[in-house]
This record gives sequence, structure tokens and C-alpha cells, in this order.
Amino acid sequence: MAGFASPDAFSPETSALQLLPIRFERLGADRFLVGNLVGDMAEMTAGELDRLCTLDLTPGDGLYERAFEKLFVASVGQRAQQQLLALRLRSRMSFLRAATPLHLFVVTLRCEHSCPYCQVSRQSKDRVRYDMDQATASKALDIALSAPAQLIKIEFQGGEPLLNFELIQWIVLTAKERSVPLGKQLQFVIATNLALLDDEVLDFCGEHDVLFSTSLDGPRELHNKNRPRRGQNSYELAVAGIARIKERLGPDRVGALMTTTEASLDSVEEIVDEYLKQGLEGIFLRPLSPYGFAIKTKQFHKYDAQEWLQFWKRGLRYILDVNRSGRHFPEFYSALMLRRMLSDEPIGYVDLRSPAGIGLGALVYNYDGTVFASDEARMLAEMGDRSFELGNVNEHSYRDLVLSDTLVSAVAESLTQTAPQCSTCVFEPHCGADPVYHHATQGDLLGIKPLSEFCERQKGVLTHLFELLEHCPEDAAILRRWAS
Ligand code: SF4
Repeated sequence: MAGFASPDAFSPETSALQLLPIRFERLGADRFLVGNLVGDMAEMTAGELDRLCTLDLTPGDGLYERAFEKLFVASVGQRAQQQLLALRLRSRMSFLRAATPLHLFVVTLRCEHSCPYCQVSRQSKDRVRYDMDQATASKALDIALSAPAQLIKIEFQGGEPLLNFELIQWIVLTAKERSVPLGKQLQFVIATNLALLDDEVLDFCGEHDVLFSTSLDGPRELHNKNRPRRGQNSYELAVAGIARIKERLGPDRVGALMTTTEASLDSVEEIVDEYLKQGLEGIFLRPLSPYGFAIKTKQFHKYDAQEWLQFWKRGLRYILDVNRSGRHFPEFYSALMLRRMLSDEPIGYVDLRSPAGIGLGALVYNYDGTVFASDEARMLAEMGDRSFELGNVNEHSYRDLVLSDTLVSAVAESLTQTAPQCSTCVFEPHCGADPVYHHATQGDLLGIKPLSEFCERQKGVLTHLFELLEHCPEDAAILRRWAS
């Protein structure tokens, strides 16, 4: 026997493993959600989590293999797992290399609607005072085109931007001309209620590849209740506009957004049916934001995060049934989250990233030349809080704006990677810093996360999606399609 070592000599020692950064969250009495640095997650019992943390793992016991697969552990002396994590983290964060791809031009504050939850402060009169002029637009355009991103998306906002369509035309033509020597690609979107859509607008947008984003809150009664205007025909104008754009410019030239008001909470199926009826490609079940008229008219406080989550879950169930019957129709918020959970793509959505997307993801040029860090920051300013005002197109360059003390401190102070609660949260790789929201609701850039409805919604959405992916194979197949 002298030539053979005992079988024990061939078993790896537990100390040959090292634990990589993990986070966990309790899902139930004996159920934990465990996640790694890039958001891969696995469900474990308390016993399994204990064994993982004490590295009590043996090849062939199942947990050892899962821990390696999910990058929870590595072999001592081997750097492959850490290198893979670093590579994947770099890919997920690569949005930082293409700074400020989105530029919002508020071409007018005027609007002919008077929606009670409107997130901007509409002005109906005084054309000269509340419209952006060409000199301001020209300077804003220079700033937008000097951002590092190769693909620059220009979105026209209001008020109702079609009330200043002349300026939109000028900006599109001038941007195209100025982008040629810079080698930049451009995309244009008009965010409009479509009430003023006419042949002139359609012809121009068709010729210059301008997309439309509109609002559709649901069936006629709900939409018209949410969006009052003289004539009570907001719905009729919106759906007629959607149909005209689809017919003249193509089915993918218009998208719609809905806003969940108290009146929507019991009608999610009808809202989804309305989107299907209008031939839209999916739906984004959005909660109300705590800004502008939504605060002044107290709409924001009419439902809480749990009520919104119930609404979203019921809507998602209904939408999954629609998909099961053969129609591809994603819920866009879920699709966004699923892409983060199932891939390492960089995230373009400015509200759900850390470092925060304010300024680094988007800049907003107000009608008077003031520059804000986000659309929500502009809405706050309309309410008298100018905390996220970065400067003015007449005085500042792109560099001045993104390196301003206001922006740098807001981004630095809100990083989820280092924030109390977030830095130990299993959902952190899929979540984001939202300093404007937390400043508006809590007066704190970072936010006290146990009291944050943003956090409550994120946890609710991510937990529900994880449960569906893990435990409902039929739903999981559909959700995986949405992610790709
Ligand atoms: S906001 Fe909430 S869900 Fe998001 S990372 Fe922080 S603690 Fe987690």
C-alpha cells in the first residue's frame, strides 16, 4: 500500500476556495435570494447559504457547482472567476464611455391640454415668453453635439412641442448639417399628445426620420378623464394620430406611454386591451412621478408603492396570457429589468443606473436656455426648487455643465455601489441611483431607502420577475424572449 495515498488526500480542502462578493435577501421562511457582483442570482435555503458562507462545499454536492456557476466562489490562486466578473462589470458599465446620448429640447411650455397630473407647469398664453427661440436652440445644439456619445438622440418636449413646430424643423435641419463634419449619428423624437398632428408635420417627420412618442392612458373614458382639453376629445385625437402615423410613416414610428393614476388602478386589463386595439408594440406600466402638477393637484399621493405593484403584477399576468396566445407584446418595464437580469448589456435607461443618469445620460435645455440635469430636474425647478440647474446655454459649454459642482456632487453622493442599504442589496446591479426623486421626496440625494417608494417598487418588481423566471417555466420562456 506504500505507493498510494489515502482517498482523503484527493479531496480538495475547503480552504482551497474563496468567497467572492455576494449579497442576499430573505424571500421566505427558509428561502434566500443570493446574488453576485453582476446580478446573477440563485435561490438557497438557510442551510445552503450557511454552507456557502463557510465554504463548506464539496465537488459533486450540487451546491459547489452552483456556487462556481454563479461566480459566488473561486479557487484560491486562480483568477479566472475574478477576471470574468471584472469583464462583465465593465460591459455592464460601458454606458459611461458614451456620455450624454440624450438631449431634451423644451421648445415651448405652452400646452392646450390641462392634465391634473401633468409633470410640467403648462402655460397656455404668451407665445413669446414661453417659446424657445432660434438663438437659444442654436447654442443648445452646439452643446448637444459636443457630447462624447456617437449617437445623439434629440427629443422635443413641452408643454406641447407641436405648438412650436417651426423651431423643431429648424433644429432638425440644422442638427443634420452640423453633425456631418463631426461624424455623429442622430435620432429625433417628438413627445406629443398628437392633438395638433397635421399633414405638414407628417410630411416633415417622414422625410427626416423623426419618431413620435405619445401618451395613451387607456380607453376613451379614462384617457379623457386624465387628460382634459376643450372639446373633451384628447382620446379621439390621440388614437386618430397614432393611426395616421402608422399608415403614413410605418407601424414602428410611434410609441405610447401611459401614466397610472388612481383611476387606472382597477382597469389594467382594459388599458392593455386599448394598447392591443391600437396596434401598439407593447406597454410601459408607469407609476406617477412626484413632480409638477402631480404634486400641486395631490395626484401623486393617491396611491402607494404597494398599490402600484398590485396593479403592475395584475397587468403583467394579463400581458403574459396575451403573449401565450401568440402575440408578442412586452411590458417594457419588465423587459428593461429582464435585460439587466439576463444579460450584461449596458443600460441606456437614464433613471435606472448608477452612477446616476442625470447629466451623464441626458441634458435638458429649457425654453429660456437654462440647462437641467434631467426632465424631472426641470419639473422641480418649475415648482421653485432649482437644485439641479446646471447652467445656461449662453454661458456654459458641455464640459462646464457635466463638470459643474452641482452635477458632480449629485452623482457622487448618490452612488448605489457605496450607499447604505444599496451596497448590501442583492438587487443593486439591476437598480439605479435616482437623486432627483429622492431629493424631491426625502430632501436627500441618496435617499433613506427603507422609506423610499422607488426602492419598494424596485424590490417588488425584481423579486416577482425572479420568482417567475425560477418557478414558472412557461412565463419564463416569454420573459426571456422579451429580454432579447
Ligand atoms: S434602491 Fe432599494 S432595491 Fe435599489 S439597490 Fe437600493 S436598496 Fe436595493
